[in-house]
Amino acid sequence: MTSLFEYAPAPESRSIVDIRPSYGLFVDGEFVDGTGTPLKTVNPATEEVLSEVATGSEEDVDRAVRAARRAFVKTWGPMRPADRGKYLFRIARLLQERAREFAVLETLDNGKPIRESRDVDVPLAAAHFFYHAGWADKLEHAGLGPAPCPLGVAGQVIPWNFPLLMLAWKVAPALATGNTVVLKPAETTPLTALLFAEICQQADLPPGVVNIVTGAGETGRAVISHPDVDKVAFTGSTEVGRSIARAVAGTEKRLTLELGGKAANIVFDDAPIDQAVEGIVRGIFFNQGHVCCAGSRLLVQESVHDEVVASLQRRIGTLRVGDPMDKNTDLGAINSAEQLARIRELTAFGETEGATCWQPDGDLPDRGFWFKPTVFTDVSPAHRIARDEVFGPVLSVMTFRTPDEAVAKANNTTYGLSAGIWSEKGSRILKVTDQLRAGVVWANTFNEFDPTSPFGGYKQSGYGREGGRQGLAAYLRSDS
Ligand code: NAP
Ligand code: MG
Repeated sequence: MTSLFEYAPAPESRSIVDIRPSYGLFVDGEFVDGTGTPLKTVNPATEEVLSEVATGSEEDVDRAVRAARRAFVKTWGPMRPADRGKYLFRIARLLQERAREFAVLETLDNGKPIRESRDVDVPLAAAHFFYHAGWADKLEHAGLGPAPCPLGVAGQVIPWNFPLLMLAWKVAPALATGNTVVLKPAETTPLTALLFAEICQQADLPPGVVNIVTGAGETGRAVISHPDVDKVAFTGSTEVGRSIARAVAGTEKRLTLELGGKAANIVFDDAPIDQAVEGIVRGIFFNQGHVCCAGSRLLVQESVHDEVVASLQRRIGTLRVGDPMDKNTDLGAINSAEQLARIRELTAFGETEGATCWQPDGDLPDRGFWFKPTVFTDVSPAHRIARDEVFGPVLSVMTFRTPDEAVAKANNTTYGLSAGIWSEKGSRILKVTDQLRAGVVWANTFNEFDPTSPFGGYKQSGYGREGGRQGLAAYLRSDS
């Protein structure tokens, strides 16, 4: 893509990672064959097949749940909490030691820029293990009762947008609270979860504490509906979340759901415009917009609309779209052909419904799955691009005149995961934040994550929190 500055290519080497031609399931501390039909995982930037990965059938899931139950009863459950903490610290350190390997593998399998997997995904995944390692022997001080107890076996299903990081958000709190895990990674991005299984072996984690069962949606369904699973944790689409809530209803299972979003990013006329533009770019183009809390609805105060949009378009013109392994790349590949088709379908609606579409000049690579950073102006709140989650690099811009109108428009969504506010006025930030129905509200920044900070949604964005003290509650009971 043409850019203000030209850089020489700066490709990261892939030689650090050794991708096996095929992978089995990780059950009871070992890699074993799956009985389902294996799946191929591809590099979305090139469509190259990276590896063949086993599919877990109901029978395989049952084997994994039985291993997790045994580990819960015999080793992990009875273990001294401080010793559980030591294992988590060890895993965190191994993730750091092998960070480059994880970053390269994540970028190859997912399509996200190496700059992000290296600087965000992998360090944050390690941080989640460090943070929860510290909690392992202090749970009675978490404000969740004098002697909180683990639930047992956790069945966890995660999406493809932050494969290793979502694994860390699920596995670290589950283990720190004394539970054992059966986790299903997403079909298109299983490889870092399988490398994580190697880390579990390297850390000498007792067999069965972590089990990784790869496969498609059916494997996920087998995990969440297994009768011996005590806790279900799901991150993914609202549609699948709803079907999981139905499957779990009427059982003793505890459930947390982290689902979709359609966040408002609100820019007031007193905001520092250049800083806000950086935040808008980060809000919607980070990870190609494959972010549940992406700032996909930009609400700009009418008086600064033209200035903000002009400045934003100028800035987008400098973004580098292309080879995710290049250290200068800002936007990588769309994760799959299916996701690309969905983005195309929703943006086509934007044009037929009368919004104005803008994209920067320049070409996209010939092979792989790509979509240009896109801005829609003249958007009305009734348009589908203002209501539906695109889960891609597509921003919808709307305007407001008063703070009350901004709040009303921001809350006019079925979701409620996150929001952003840009203003120099602290009192306005606090007042507006208070009125927003969103689990996370960022002020003068966007897409900041920290393991100490609880994350989760209102309304159709799901329920339960991950991270912080609140996230521990999802894996503990305080009734005994
Ligand atoms: P998805 O289709 O809901 O898939 C999520 C996971 O569930 C995948 O592992 C998927 O397997 C599995 N799955 C599919 N059908 C299932 C079923 N019936 N029972 C159990 N598991 C099933 O979502 P996605 O397209 O991968 O991810 C994008 C969505 O996730 C977006 O809507 C986004 O907002 C949401 N998301 C939310 C958060 C959050 O924290 N709130 C974070 C990230 C993403 P396959 O991979 O084989 O389909
Ligand atoms: Mg892949």
